[in-house]
Order: sequence, then C-alpha cells, then structure tokens
Amino acid sequence: MKYIDEFQDPELARRLLDDIHATVTRPWALMEVCGGQTHSIIRHGIDQLLPEQLELIHGPGCPVCVTPLEVIDKALEIASRPEVIFCSFGDMLRVPGTGRDLFQVRGEGGDVRVVYSPLDALRIAQQNPDREVVFFGIGFETTAPPNAMTVHQARKLGVRNFSMLVSHVRVPPAIEAIMSSPSCRVQGFLAAGHVCSVMGVEEYPELAERFRVPIVVTGFEPLDILEGVRRAVRQLERGEHTVDNAYARAVRPEGNPAARAMLEDVFEVTDRAWRGIGVIPGSGWRLSSKYRDHDAEHRFPVDGIRTEEPAECRSGEVLQGLLKPHECEAFGTLCTPRTPLGATMVSSEGACAAYYLYRRLDMPATKTREATPVV
Ligand code: SF4
Repeated sequence: MKYIDEFQDPELARRLLDDIHATVTRPWALMEVCGGQTHSIIRHGIDQLLPEQLELIHGPGCPVCVTPLEVIDKALEIASRPEVIFCSFGDMLRVPGTGRDLFQVRGEGGDVRVVYSPLDALRIAQQNPDREVVFFGIGFETTAPPNAMTVHQARKLGVRNFSMLVSHVRVPPAIEAIMSSPSCRVQGFLAAGHVCSVMGVEEYPELAERFRVPIVVTGFEPLDILEGVRRAVRQLERGEHTVDNAYARAVRPEGNPAARAMLEDVFEVTDRAWRGIGVIPGSGWRLSSKYRDHDAEHRFPVDGIRTEEPAECRSGEVLQGLLKPHECEAFGTLCTPRTPLGATMVSSEGACAAYYLYRRLDMPATKTREATPVV
C-alpha cells in the first residue's frame, strides 16, 4: 500500500538499525512522546532491536490516558442527566471513572452515543432540538482543530442545544514538565509528528536549547521511528541539541495555519491536570469566553466530585516514563484490557494496552525507578 509499504521496508530497516548500532557508544534514554509511536515500537519489536545501551521511555502522549479522573467523573454525571444526549468517541466509554464508566451509565439508562466525528454530535443536536447534546472533546493538538471547528459551526448556525465538555492538552508544556522533574532521565525526544503537522515546530527550539535535548519530529511507521532514533542518537553522540524534522512529508515548520487560526479563535490556554501526573501550567485549552454558551462545564455545573484512583494502578508512573507497564504488579492479572484498572490499559494508544496486546506478559521486570511526580 502506497505511503505504508515503503516505510516498512525490512532492508531499509536493517540499514537504519546498523547505523544506529554503529553510532551508539554509551547509554542513552529517549522518550517517544506519542502513544501511537509507543504502539508502533512495541508492535514491531523496535525496542528489542536497538542497542542495549539505548532505552526508549514511553511518554504521556495518549489522550485518553491523561484525561483527568475529575473530568471523567464530570462526564459521567452530565451523561446521567435525563435531558442529555452524551456523545463521545468509543474509546472513552470504557475509561474508568471513580466507580463506573460511560458504558455503565448507558446500561443504567443514560443516552450515551458513540460518534465518529464531533460534527456527528452537532447533527444529533440539530435533529433533537428538545434535548441537550454534549460532546466529550478530549485529546492533544490533533483532535482539537475539528472540535474547535464544530463549536465554531454550532455558534454560526445557532445550534444552542450543543455544548462541549473540553479537556484538551498541549504537548510542549508536558515536555517542559518532564524535563523539569528531578527524576527525569530523558536525554532526547521523538516529538509527535501529527501534533507538529498542526502546530509546526516553533515551540521546540527554546525547549531544546533550555534543556539541552535533541528533539526530533518523528512519524509512526517503523522506518519513521528508526530514522527519528538515528537522528536523535547522532545528535547525542555529537553533543548537539537541535530540533530536527524527520517527518517532512507531513510537517511544515509553521504547521497548519488554518487549523491554528481556528484553535486561536475558539480556545484559550489554561492550566490542566493530567491523569496520574498532576497539574501542568499552561498545558491545556478550554473554550474562550466568546463560546461560553457552548461550554458544558458552564452549562452543567457539577459540584462535590470526589475522585479515587484504584490503589493498585501505577499508570501515573507509566505515563511519566518511570515504570514500564509489565513492571506493575496488576499487569495481566488484576488488570487486562477486559478489566482495566487504569486508562493506560483501556486506550488503543495506552502503553499498558500495547504491552498486553503484543504479549509482553513474560518479560522480566526491569529495575523500578524512584517514582517522583513530574509536578
Ligand atoms: S497495568 Fe493496569 S493497573 Fe498497572 S499501571 Fe497499567 S493500567 Fe494501571
């Protein structure tokens, strides 16, 4: 298949691997930011083909995983209201809140619907003028533009019964928080290519310079990952720390100006809590005051939420790269994709799900690192 096969070519992969092995002379730790990259790495066994001295640390770039428990509980409360049709992408339905998930709300009679686009939710609102339609808008800079466009459209069309529960997060402040943590072991980043295709790379040179880390914008196919790793270790071995775009077929330095303009119009930057990590300043977007009428948090105030994570779940450490999924005692026993204790086991982009799916059940646990919170 065009644009896929050529990035999975085994001969080219072998050459890139040879180059990486020839380049690496001492221990290095790279973080792949995005959960999609984590899945590609584990699925293709890339981490097992790299030099032993080179560790890949799985980052917090899984949108479902980092949506805070408080927001999930808010979604559960809003979805339970009889006047509400609650719309969401399917992967959010099984994310455990405190005690239940959206599937259970649906089982208890809540009108919870899976949609494939926020525009589907807007259409449902137009078809049901006597109901309140709420869309669960979560994710990184990648899902934010269509969500922003949908809110913009709702306002333009005067669809007053449509609102959005927004919990968007931004990658650069997360990189800053990771690098500022005293327990940070990351020496270089594979930045998420799809995020950069929207936002460009303007925010990264300052981070690369301040923390003296190479940041390589990287795609998702096996050859993309290997090329990202190759460029990152080459910089590390040379003592360099620049921003390098290894995903030029999709990423322009300025990103997507139309999408960025839409984001600027609809959202404003806010502090955001990341599940298992804590509040990272300036790391989120919320609807700006101009769109307040479409803000579900404003329209459906929910008080008295008391969140409680399962004591066994260590997804916070997994999301910070302090623990590999198979090092969690509940992995594959108490916690499986059918009985997930944490969001990292639910999401198709979660590291725990990736390890489970690609059969890392029998991997020996590596040395558990000191778990100091990022923030
Ligand atoms: S394996 Fe399950 S319990 Fe352990 S960290 Fe992952 S999601 Fe949490």
